[in-house]
Amino acid sequence: MTTPDAPALSVVVPAYNEQEVLPELHRRLAAALADIGIPWEVVYVNDGSRDATLSVMLGIQAQDPRAAVVNLSRNFGKEIALTAGLDHARATEAVVVIDADLQDPPEVIPALVATWREGFDVVYAQRNTREGETWLKKATAAGFYRVMQRIGGKVQLPPDTGDFRLMSRRAIDALLQLREQHRFMKGLFAWIGFPSKAVRYDRAPRAAGETKWNYWKLWNFSLEGITSFTVAPLKVATYVGFAIAVLATIYLAFIVGRTLLQGNPVAGYPSLLAVVLFLGGVQMMMLGIIGEYLGRIFNETKQRPLYFTERYLPSRSPE
Ligand code: UDP
Ligand code: MG
Repeated sequence: MTTPDAPALSVVVPAYNEQEVLPELHRRLAAALADIGIPWEVVYVNDGSRDATLSVMLGIQAQDPRAAVVNLSRNFGKEIALTAGLDHARATEAVVVIDADLQDPPEVIPALVATWREGFDVVYAQRNTREGETWLKKATAAGFYRVMQRIGGKVQLPPDTGDFRLMSRRAIDALLQLREQHRFMKGLFAWIGFPSKAVRYDRAPRAAGETKWNYWKLWNFSLEGITSFTVAPLKVATYVGFAIAVLATIYLAFIVGRTLLQGNPVAGYPSLLAVVLFLGGVQMMMLGIIGEYLGRIFNETKQRPLYFTERYLPSRSPE
């Protein structure tokens, strides 16, 4: 998407029902970017919002030529909205990804830019605290990162890191080659590699509007993360099956021995039922895990485009 008058830096903002915060976000972005010394643009992606987000964006775009608007044909979810923004980012040098709700403070961007200038391709913003979030959300997030760290293998997710980050053009080009439908962005960011460094900051509570997350969504998000990131759960079946087979063999030897020594007293209906139910449960669970992967394979094989844009208004170079 780069053109002759392309800016050096693009800031990509996916937004779903964010009419209240966008004007404030744009003000703070413009203030934060005023002194970085390179031309920039902001790419606003409207992810099928039900409120006036699109008209607010168009208003910003009419007033500030450095704003671009990508309007998706419906709500595709944050991960795809973000990808659409990256696809439309015209920056020649670097791209910053930031949430619309001001939980990622725009004031951190100059620090990201400074670290990028030291020669890092990926500069991710790492949260110090999670103000205004319940202990349950903090605990589940911590647990999720621990699990991912365990099973991640070579690709390690940095903890306390969201999507808020700066990436160089070559890192973005690498990322955009990954066109899978199930886009677990944290995993994709980590997968591409390149020299990376963290910049620490304090995460603020949401400025206005409501979070689109609930625990059911978080659970699905974790499932997505695990299944699009590793096939480790598929191996569980192998080990559980092996362990059960070994235990069963030992038990069999014990039964045979006891029958030879003591004859065959009729007993064992409850234990039989317990074993049958246990094995049934384990098999159902393993089928479920295989199903999770099969469903994802099904979605990927359709090879559909990730999204459709209803309209794209590029940023203009300020005269
Ligand atoms: N978002 C989006 N599409 C969606 C849901 C969310 O583009 O379907 C955007 C949202 O507007 C915000 C960002 O993704 O800019 C993060 O969303 P949210 O604040 O709800 O998530 P959290 O901060 O709780 O992770
Ligand atoms: Mg948020």
